[in-house]
Amino acid sequence: MLGADTPKLMLWAILMMLQIDIHSNWLPYQQQLQLRPVDQITGIVIHCTETPDLQTARALGEQIHYPQSATGNSGHYYIDIDGSIEQYVPIERIAHHVADRNHNSIGIELVNAGRYPDWLHSQSQQMTAVYPDVQLAALRQLLLMLRQQLPALEWIAGHEDLDRRLVNASDDPHIKVHRKKDPGPMFPWSRVLDNMNLQRID
Ligand SMILES: [Zn+2]
Repeated sequence: MLGADTPKLMLWAILMMLQIDIHSNWLPYQQQLQLRPVDQITGIVIHCTETPDLQTARALGEQIHYPQSATGNSGHYYIDIDGSIEQYVPIERIAHHVADRNHNSIGIELVNAGRYPDWLHSQSQQMTAVYPDVQLAALRQLLLMLRQQLPALEWIAGHEDLDRRLVNASDDPHIKVHRKKDPGPMFPWSRVLDNMNLQRID
């Protein structure tokens, strides 16, 4: 059975790669990010940018936060609300997008306002911006492509699931809010993961 299906699967994989249009838009410092063998990538972390648009997310990604390596924080892929995909960092480099799991994961950022502009204000913790269908369709295409490219991929998580730290609210130090809440309650996990063969960890 496996032998008979293999050519079909390969053809399907090639078609998937042809269909998906990813625009490389490397961060200026991407060559300073540490290299890794791609077979050590076992997971995907889903984020949202918590910005009103991709340009604002790009500006945040370009900021230098680690003077020693002259690098900053970003995901590998960014999916805009119209479904277009940009890649900021090659997958063979370790991007800083989550605490503790950068070395073996890929970060995917969806443009979504989230709690913007005062992320930690006690009154802005509801995340009500929807993820448009075209954006979610592009995400599924990207996930399918990565499943084909990276046989060791097995888990997927939201940033909110991996970083549950609480911090003081910006408007009242007596109130605690979540440092990270992305992708948040509007993200339709079951729809995105349907038939994806990735295990969600939360
Ligand atoms: Zn995040």
